[in-house]
Amino acid sequence: MKVLVHVELRGDTPGADTVGLVSRAAAIADDVEVVALAPRTEALADALARSGARRVSTVAHGTTGVSVLEASVDALERVCRDEQPDAVFFAASVRATDVAAALAARLGAGLNWDLTDIRVVDGELRGTRPILGDSKLAEVGWKGEGPSLALFRPGAFARVDVPDAAPPEVRRLDVTPRDAWARVTVSDTTAQPDTGPRLDEAEVIVSGGRGIGAPEHLELIRELARALGGVAGVSMPVVTQGWAPYSMQVGQTGTIVRPRLYVACGISGQLQHRVGMERSGAIIAINTDPAAPIFSFCDVAVVGDLHAIIPRVLELL
Ligand code: FAD
Repeated sequence: MKVLVHVELRGDTPGADTVGLVSRAAAIADDVEVVALAPRTEALADALARSGARRVSTVAHGTTGVSVLEASVDALERVCRDEQPDAVFFAASVRATDVAAALAARLGAGLNWDLTDIRVVDGELRGTRPILGDSKLAEVGWKGEGPSLALFRPGAFARVDVPDAAPPEVRRLDVTPRDAWARVTVSDTTAQPDTGPRLDEAEVIVSGGRGIGAPEHLELIRELARALGGVAGVSMPVVTQGWAPYSMQVGQTGTIVRPRLYVACGISGQLQHRVGMERSGAIIAINTDPAAPIFSFCDVAVVGDLHAIIPRVLELL
């Protein structure tokens, strides 16, 4: 089985979700090629080879140094027509979703989205997709023309290193710009200021829920996160009350996370929060209510008041 993985770069390096996706593709397919819209290859090829990529193709686009979405679609379409892959995988993001949809239209191919797993059954791909508010898992397949296109939920796969990976074959594609996007000029871009490690790539996350009681108590959560070398997150009510920005929200409609350690403070563990963090390596929950749902799936349950426990933990740390 031949699988193509679309790579979205953060600066010069692929995001953690893309790297995890390459690992998953390598586990189910014997031939994995990644396609990135970037002129440079060294760092990229190295990172992706260790996750199981056999070939890395980069595409230098013809606009004024700024990536235009249609260029990715053109590049992927070209590789799909030349290489005839069985499937093309995308780690979901706003941009990747647009690219996948456009590619599906160009190729007349089927696209399944929001998948959390994929496997091969009797030579055919089967995706896993949470449904009904994530309370059930559906198995989905593809029919029709072209490769099977799949968008995966953030945090779906962790990177798995391939020991002694051979350097991948690296090639550079020249894709002639189509008229439509060759006429596009990007006059300005604004980068969001970097505010520290990203939630979806953090190794340690300490999150505060409604149980923190007041916005000023978020500082206690941030302090514990700093002491553990991690990043602070929150549950949805903390965001809807205006105590924290949306970028800090963990959960179904926030960021899906997969740290090594997740510390949930004053969070009940409702389904929509749970689906965003249950794949963490270890979960510690601090909650005053011994019947809180989070205690049914955490690894360490601390029954008590976070305002008493966190300062004590900080002292010990
Ligand atoms: P609560 O459920 O109110 O729990 C607060 C907890 O704090 C309680 O268990 C309480 O015992 C404990 N507590 C109180 N005081 C203390 C104290 N002093 N010390 C220790 N513990 C204390 N939620 C998300 O988080 N992320 C999402 O992305 C998300 N998306 C959603 C999407 C949809 C479509 C819907 C319908 C809901 C979504 N929700 C989401 C909301 C979700 O259903 C829950 O309402 C929410 O997760 C509850 O947040 P919480 O645990 O902080 O608050």
